[in-house]
Amino acid sequence: MPTQERIALPSGVTITTLRGSRPGPTVSLLGGVHGDEDEGVLAVLRVLDELRASELTGTVHAVAAASPVAWAAHSRVSPLDGENLARCFPGTGGEGPTHHLAADITRHLINGADLLIDLHSAGMRYRMPLMCGFVSDVEAADRSCRAAEAFGTPLIWAHTDPVPGRSLSVAAELGVPAVYAECSGGGGIRQDELDTYVSGVLAVLADVGMLPDHGRLHKRKEPRWVYGSGDLDSGMQAKCDGLFVSAVDAGDIVDVDDEIGRCYDYQGHLLDVVRAPRQGMVMFLRRQARTLAHDVLFVLADLTPRQE
Ligand SMILES: [Zn+2]
Repeated sequence: MPTQERIALPSGVTITTLRGSRPGPTVSLLGGVHGDEDEGVLAVLRVLDELRASELTGTVHAVAAASPVAWAAHSRVSPLDGENLARCFPGTGGEGPTHHLAADITRHLINGADLLIDLHSAGMRYRMPLMCGFVSDVEAADRSCRAAEAFGTPLIWAHTDPVPGRSLSVAAELGVPAVYAECSGGGGIRQDELDTYVSGVLAVLADVGMLPDHGRLHKRKEPRWVYGSGDLDSGMQAKCDGLFVSAVDAGDIVDVDDEIGRCYDYQGHLLDVVRAPRQGMVMFLRRQARTLAHDVLFVLADLTPRQE
């Protein structure tokens, strides 16, 4: 059985470390980087529970919730400084509490790890399909790709560029293979998505030799692949305040000019018909109707890799 250690750091994050009886790789798990995403928090806690009763080789570090104050407030950003932890990595760009958190996670969980797994979801205001993503054009891409395939989601998003501030971008800078996962969000947790997250992490650990296989790696279908930037801040924005009505769902494939949704003002007048600027898969879609100007309405992934 693994031994367990818990360390509370001054930034507020608590790291749980499980060490197996045999030396091996080090894998770090993050859940709840965004405080309105309970799926990753529960999945990390369930994985730790499974590992406590397993023949673990190597070391697993885990934080859940990674942003405890944001999680307590059920908020995407920290109520302490209004910062989004997933825009603050590696934590050297500021002095506030969220940057301290990012610096502690970078130092203790990402730097020196053999693999990072960061479990997100669409949060309260958006929808996303169940997917696993990684950055495909960096040094550790082969091992990240292998981990994404082992994770076993029906959809894999290969990103062409690391977007600054994310856990995956600092991992890329440090040469650490990394994957993240997303699922539907909305404040509930679907059993099938939780099961995929838990079995996905365990399958990745089995794939790198940290757990016995137990058939974990042999029961999945071929995933669908999508491509392009994973910068969810760069999607199409609302032009004005109002109510957004979506005409598609996360995971839908749309053609250029297909209707994505409509924006109405608070008197019910149609303000805007929002259309797809190109073909793609809807990866990130506004769930919450009440929308302010410049809120992101949707993000598309490419169906084929872009030709340079
Ligand atoms: Zn997130």
